Amino acid sequence: MSAWKETAEGVFTRRFEPVDVTVTAVLGGAGVLVVDTRCSVQEGEELRAELARLTPLPVRWVVNTHVHFDHMWGNAAFDAPALEPPAQFWGHRRMPDYDPDGPEFHDLRDRLLRDGPEWKPKLDALVIRKPDHLVSASHALDLGGRVIELLHPGRGHTDHDLVLWLPDAELLIGGDLVEQSGPVAYGSDSFPLDWPATLAALAALTTEGTTYVPGHGDPSGRGFLTESQAFVAAVADQIRALHADGVPVADAVAAGSWPIENAAHFGDAVTRGYAQLSGELG
Ligand SMILES: [Zn+2]
Repeated sequence: MSAWKETAEGVFTRRFEPVDVTVTAVLGGAGVLVVDTRCSVQEGEELRAELARLTPLPVRWVVNTHVHFDHMWGNAAFDAPALEPPAQFWGHRRMPDYDPDGPEFHDLRDRLLRDGPEWKPKLDALVIRKPDHLVSASHALDLGGRVIELLHPGRGHTDHDLVLWLPDAELLIGGDLVEQSGPVAYGSDSFPLDWPATLAALAALTTEGTTYVPGHGDPSGRGFLTESQAFVAAVADQIRALHADGVPVADAVAAGSWPIENAAHFGDAVTRGYAQLSGELG
C-alpha cells in the first residue's frame, strides 16, 4: 500500500492493492469527497480509516467513476450504519445494476475466487451500494468554498464514465478512461469506437498545466492524456479497417496490427467495435 500524495492543494491521491486502483480525496470546507472506494466493504473500511488519519473532516460525498467492482464495492463503508451521517453517493444515470443472479456477476465472482482465497470473505460480506445521486451530462457540486464539476464526456471505457474537473486545482480525475499503470482496458461493456472522441473532449477541457488522475496508476500531465488518445484512436482505426476489409470477427484480433504486442488485449475491443459497426450497439 502506498501513501497519500498531495497531488494538488487539498487533493490527495493514493494507489491501493489489489488491482492498483487509484483513490482520490478532495478536501472542501464542508467535508471530504472520495472518488472510488476499492474492491470490497472491508477495503472500503480500511480506506475510511486511512482517510480519518489524513483529515478530521467527515466524508460527505462518494463519487463512483463507473460500475466496475474495483471502483465501487467499498461504498457500503461510507453508508449508514458504518458511517453516520452517511455520505451521498454520486454516479452516472446509466450506471447499470449488478444482477446477483445474472451470468456476468457469476463470471466475475468465479474469476475473483480463482484469483485467491482472500476473495471468499470479501464476496460473502459484499453489500453493493449504488449511487442514488445521478448525473446525466454534468453537475456542479459545492464542497464548501470549492466547486467541482461532475461530467460525462461520452462513451469509452463504459457508457457511463463520470469524470471530475476541479477548476481551482486544474485537475481532472478520469476513472478508467485513462490508465497509467497499464494500457487502457477494453471490457465487454466498452465503446472502443467512441473512446477517441471522448478523450478529445477531455483534452479540450484541459490546459498545459492540467494534472490528470487516472483510474489506475500515478497522476500525470496533459501529455499522457494526448498519448492515450492516440492509442485509442489507433485501435478504433484498426477495428474500422478490419471491418471494412471484411475480416471476420473471429480472425480480426490475430489479423490486426495493434499499438501493443499482446493482441489478446484487444479481444473485447474487436467484439464491441464490430457489434457497433453492425448496428447492434446503437
Ligand atoms: Zn473499469
